[in-house]
Amino acid sequence: MARHHQVLIIGGGTAGITVAAQLRRKDRSLGIAIIEPSEVHYYQPAWTLVGAGTYDLQATRKPTTDFIPSGVTWIKERVATIAAAENKVTLQTGEDITYDWLVVAAGIQIDWHKVKGLPEAIGKGGVCSNYGFEKAPYTWEVLQSLKAGDKAFFTQPNTPIKCGGAPQKIMWLTADYLRRNGLQGKVAVEMMSPGTMLFGVEVFRNALLKVQARYGAKWSHYTNLVEIRGDKNEAVFDQIDPATGAVTGQRVEHYDMIHVVPPQSAPDFIKQSDVANADGWVDVDKHTLQHNRFPNVFSLGDSAGTPNAKTGAAVRKQAPVMVANMLRVMKENKVTEDKRYFGYTSCPLTTGYGEMLLAEFDYDNNPDPSLPINTTKPRWSMWLLKKYVLPVMYWQGMLKGRA
Ligand SMILES: Cc1cc2nc3c(=O)[nH]c(=O)nc-3n(C[C@H](O)[C@H](O)[C@H](O)COP(=O)(O)OP(=O)(O)OC[C@H]3O[C@@H](n4cnc5c(N)ncnc54)[C@H](O)[C@@H]3O)c2cc1C
Repeated sequence: MARHHQVLIIGGGTAGITVAAQLRRKDRSLGIAIIEPSEVHYYQPAWTLVGAGTYDLQATRKPTTDFIPSGVTWIKERVATIAAAENKVTLQTGEDITYDWLVVAAGIQIDWHKVKGLPEAIGKGGVCSNYGFEKAPYTWEVLQSLKAGDKAFFTQPNTPIKCGGAPQKIMWLTADYLRRNGLQGKVAVEMMSPGTMLFGVEVFRNALLKVQARYGAKWSHYTNLVEIRGDKNEAVFDQIDPATGAVTGQRVEHYDMIHVVPPQSAPDFIKQSDVANADGWVDVDKHTLQHNRFPNVFSLGDSAGTPNAKTGAAVRKQAPVMVANMLRVMKENKVTEDKRYFGYTSCPLTTGYGEMLLAEFDYDNNPDPSLPINTTKPRWSMWLLKKYVLPVMYWQGMLKGRA
């Protein structure tokens, strides 16, 4: 007979652990299991600072076992498929596990292979990325090697990504590093983005345009990285027609540094399961986080098919909503009336060493501030928040179900 758990959580990252901890605090009688293959839990937001040489890489990871709440079963395996119609999950080992309630929190998949030549080129020859524990330190190495006459590019893919601000955060930090080392204007700094604008929320966009002007950085829109020729230090970009979205031509650039944010998508096993929507994400109601077709399935975090910017900060607001709704459905077969998620996300935009702008906004791109100060301007206090306060809040608060 298949193993059975009352509540089964797929993924023990930011969302999975937070939900498990909150459920345990609310109801210790629940039988909860987390399926998570990784022995290590990462604090990914600090990888931007690692890439800029201002954070200890080792402090961004801790053993997963330290964060599995007591009384929760840890299944150290990888899920191969979900059959929600049968209340069943199948592991890569072939074992089936059944459940009464399912939470899908498996994060986002990084598709390195979707840029030709990138898997071979990454981590050497100036090709770097903050998207990975073992990758981020090389960004700092490349950054320090820049010299007059060099060209530094920063890319953004044409897919949803985790932390929409990450592509530009490292660009501003690089620009500031160059300024502090007498290289501003001597090293070309350019963002290559398929998007239409620098940032979707006007008040933050205006502030960021000033940051761009201050550094003299270039920003190319409608430009999408499609190939890295690592042997020649060349990057190939599609040029997109703004009106039709069609590719109108290609631009080939020599680079000395290229920080790549890779294409990303829903994890393949979710795309192939019955819980997925047409785009592959878990098909949940964007306010209640309950599945649109399977009432005993919930999802949050990067895997969820909610149209917010995907961040850990979004998870912090989603988790109490999801937990309250799931507990209410368990008891009364309906979601609560008062717990809704309105798309809150927050993007701590490091605009230089020692300064940060905190962009908080909702589904409608309306500012959604949580602090009693004006965070639309780069501030030293926000830098302290990012570097010293948020990591402690994460490890000690959020993952313990307290924040
Ligand atoms: C460079 C960078 C900078 C960032 N900066 C910020 C920031 O400043 N602020 C912010 O709020 N957020 C930031 N983020 C984003 C943030 O880290 C994520 O949005 C957040 O971790 C999402 O939580 P999650 O639980 O959905 O996914 P994750 O935390 O990624 O966890 C997903 C888990 O699912 C597991 N999993 C995957 N596949 C399977 C499977 N088949 N079976 C079982 N388990 C599986 C994985 O092992 C993983 O542990 C940043 C991310 C990066 C990479």
